[in-house]
Amino acid sequence: MKEKIIIIDFGSQYSQLIARRIREMEVYCEIMPLVDIEKIKNGEEKVKGIIFSGGPASVYEKDAPTVNPEVFNLNLPILGICYGMQLITHLNGGKVEKADSREFGKAVLEVENSDNPLFTGVKKSSNIWMSHNDHITELPKDFEIIAKTDSSIAAITNNNGIYALQFHPEVVHSECGTQILENFVFNICKCERNWKISSFIAEKTKFIKKTVGDEHVLLALSGGVDSSVAAVLINNAIGHQLTCMFVDTGLLRKDEGKKVLEYYKEHFDLNIVFVDAKDRFLNKLKGIDEPEAKRKIIGNEFIEVFNEEIRKLKGQEGAKFLAQGTIYPDVIESQSIKGPSHTIKSHHNVGGLPEDLQFELLEPLKELFKDEVRKVGHELGLPDTIIKRHPFPGPGLGIRVIGEVTPDKVKILQEADDIFIIELMEKGLYDKVDQAFVTLLPVKTVGVMGDQRTYEYVAAIRSVNTIDFMTATWSKLPYEFLEEVSNKIINKVNGINRIVYDISSKPPGTIEWE
Ligand code: GLN
Repeated sequence: MKEKIIIIDFGSQYSQLIARRIREMEVYCEIMPLVDIEKIKNGEEKVKGIIFSGGPASVYEKDAPTVNPEVFNLNLPILGICYGMQLITHLNGGKVEKADSREFGKAVLEVENSDNPLFTGVKKSSNIWMSHNDHITELPKDFEIIAKTDSSIAAITNNNGIYALQFHPEVVHSECGTQILENFVFNICKCERNWKISSFIAEKTKFIKKTVGDEHVLLALSGGVDSSVAAVLINNAIGHQLTCMFVDTGLLRKDEGKKVLEYYKEHFDLNIVFVDAKDRFLNKLKGIDEPEAKRKIIGNEFIEVFNEEIRKLKGQEGAKFLAQGTIYPDVIESQSIKGPSHTIKSHHNVGGLPEDLQFELLEPLKELFKDEVRKVGHELGLPDTIIKRHPFPGPGLGIRVIGEVTPDKVKILQEADDIFIIELMEKGLYDKVDQAFVTLLPVKTVGVMGDQRTYEYVAAIRSVNTIDFMTATWSKLPYEFLEEVSNKIINKVNGINRIVYDISSKPPGTIEWE
């Protein structure tokens, strides 16, 4: 039986980081917004331990997120982190109050009890990272302090499998954080290292075969990492029982449709239906310049095309399943942290599927983080050009042509963008930045070329570095490189005579311009 650690999410910005750390130990874990005690007892997978995450609320507030206290009777090891520690205290007869001063940032952990299995291999004194307003003023019943900082209780245990930390072991600034989490996972929960990418692929392949049987599956292939990996994984399992649909919206990068089609057919024998919807999209966008309006039109048109085509295909194939490249962060984002009264919504990549089109969803990647998806893709033989691809927005070039989108402008932008991206790749810079592209501005400026006056568009180059795409800084690309890109674009692309480099960070800017 598959083993796992459960992380109960109380809304911490680090919940995903805790999960990452544990998966890096080759132990499977899942984030949940609440504990379903029955599921833990009788679920398909064996729960070996539970972690309570941090969170923004205060346990003594009305409506603060909580857990069913039954969780303490499951006889499973529990580790509370920050809010998690405070909740354990609160629910077990201790007291949590607002501290006079908040503790934020570096602190020094002083281990009082080095024999405790949580502290095996942890230095007596080491740097940790704190982020809290509240603190414990009375210990919960039968708990003792096993570590301190100069201003707070840093760790407690009841010597019966329940542990709690005031600091965040999951962040890199906590020197012994990984060791402490490893101690919890291996010394205390007795997990084994058995979460491996190759076993994931083998397991999922079996699962897909068993679930699908002789039925047919449809998948919308975008050419991005997630849908590509899902397509190849499913294709390996069931071959031509899978039909992929690729919609060319006319707002893709240069030759993208053609490349995707050729590549997947040749290398993976994928059964792809190519839908040329260029004219439909471009017609709908005529005369529209407001960004939100454009986004809506593109989104709605996509759903319409998708539904029409899928109806045709469903008719032909009688498909029962719709496959999606949903990944774990999508699933987590659609979960609620507020507890049992809130239903958990499932995530739909393809929104707006008509009611009469009954499909069962097949989402083989929904347990994986992005980098794990990449590893699966790599193992399945997908090339780096697909696996390491920068994200591309759903509305595509429709929001990178600023203002009204016309076929001419799309063409100009495709050429310019292609030059920039190829240059980044050739100079080994593509993998050093996280998202890079060209935006075409609705501004013409005067230039001179071959003694002739020109009056053409301005294009902006944008390249950002980011970890999570929530915040980003502009990439410090070398001047010589920018110079070369600028020269190449202006020389080769008819219609552009000026290039500017976007040096805004996010916030206050956004990554895309519209
Ligand atoms: N909100 C709680 C506090 O301020 C917990 C914070 C946290 O979990 N990081 O102490």
